[in-house]
Amino acid sequence: MALQLYNTLTRTKQAFVPMDAANVRMYVCGPTVYDFAHIGNARPVIVFDVLFRLLRHVYGDNHVTYVRNITDVDDKINDRAARDFPALPLNEAIRRVTETTADQYHQDVAALGCLPPSIVPRATEHIDEMKQIIERLVAGGFAYVAEGHVLFSPSAQNAAGGVLPRYGALANRSLDEMIAGVRVDVAPYKQDATDFVLWKPSKEGEPGWPSPCGMASLGRPGWHIECSAMSWKHLGEVFDIHGGGIDLVFPHHENEVAQSTCAFGHSAMANVFMHNGFLQVEGKKMSKSDGNFVTINELLATDRFGGRAWSGQVLRLAMLRTHYRQPIDWTVASLQETAATLERLFDKAEGQTSGTVDPEVLAVLCDDLNLPGALARIHSVKDPAILAGTLSLLGFSMNRDDLKTSGPETSVDVGAVQALIDARIAARHGKDWAESDRIRDELLALGIQIMDSKDPVTGELKTEWEVKR
Ligand code: AMP
Ligand code: ZN
Repeated sequence: MALQLYNTLTRTKQAFVPMDAANVRMYVCGPTVYDFAHIGNARPVIVFDVLFRLLRHVYGDNHVTYVRNITDVDDKINDRAARDFPALPLNEAIRRVTETTADQYHQDVAALGCLPPSIVPRATEHIDEMKQIIERLVAGGFAYVAEGHVLFSPSAQNAAGGVLPRYGALANRSLDEMIAGVRVDVAPYKQDATDFVLWKPSKEGEPGWPSPCGMASLGRPGWHIECSAMSWKHLGEVFDIHGGGIDLVFPHHENEVAQSTCAFGHSAMANVFMHNGFLQVEGKKMSKSDGNFVTINELLATDRFGGRAWSGQVLRLAMLRTHYRQPIDWTVASLQETAATLERLFDKAEGQTSGTVDPEVLAVLCDDLNLPGALARIHSVKDPAILAGTLSLLGFSMNRDDLKTSGPETSVDVGAVQALIDARIAARHGKDWAESDRIRDELLALGIQIMDSKDPVTGELKTEWEVKR
């Protein structure tokens, strides 16, 4: 099966050719663990889980290595640790924050049907590799030491030329534009405004490690160097696929590419870069002040979004209905529709849990993970076992019990139910029976049973409803 993937490096869809078909290697930037993951964070996890499953299907389960890191050193972590555990020494408090947050993260994404990656490295366990890369970069003239910092110089990368990629090639920006665009106060120790931190001194009481390049102070790594170090350690100097959300293209991935290619002298860090589009909630950027910020955990275990808890299987399907490169609008209405659709699909599979994969769905999926296309095609798969096999490839459990939620009792949003009932009555007046049935299914998915009757006097259509228990 010819797999095509859209590559941010070339801005085209290309045939995917792994460096070694016996060990296909993928790295995806993971979470910074200081708080519950939000539903936007779930998008790359689900999208790249589908790719992991597809690669395993094509190349064999034991021939794919998927690395997704944990960033456990960061200012946000330090702040959270000091706030939540003021009585503990900072390092102990940090350990508490990162361990509980990482555990919660793994539970959340498992509930979304995601396989554990092959390797889940932690940044703090790769400080030696980071220091080795930093020392190579300094020795190669790509980085310099200044006031306890080590800084990477994009200008030095571009001056070196040769096989190295141009700094800015991934993000499709020119270094001159970037220099012109820097308006903020530039730190005095930087030679150029675009130079970025590989290593910085730790303040009193902050976590710190002996610094590279013979510096006496304790220090800590910058964010970008972490991923260069962890991908090198577990996947080698060059690997096949690097993924993450679109917001990571610049500066994070551009800087990772700069560090890895300059340290190891290759033209690429990864041959294919893939980025998922952004998620917004009810038409707006997710933000705590707008009240539309929602965590995976809240969706799974509380009635905060749409008045009920949602099964991880429904959240997964809702995420896959939009093409991974498009923006996605996360809405209660779409979750309701998705819940009804998933019930129907599980019914059609008639309790089967495995089977072969429908070849047409597979072909559509191999076209740059065209999931909306694949899902459209899935609806016409008749054979229950093939339907089950195909849905399993996409990571659905095929266990009806998984559609139940473990959250609080459904609390009904009466206004929303009435609005749906009114819309259904309007559809029936207009003889739009398909729409009327769709709304009935949507209500059923919300646990609402409806009863139609005619008013004996006026002949007017009436609909009553009750909560199914
Ligand atoms: P962060 O912890 O912010 O570094 O994000 C972890 C991952 O989630 C990265 O791959 C981000 O690109 C991705 N991400 C964060 N916010 C969103 C969002 N609203 N929509 C889609 N992906 C996101
Ligand atoms: Zn990264």
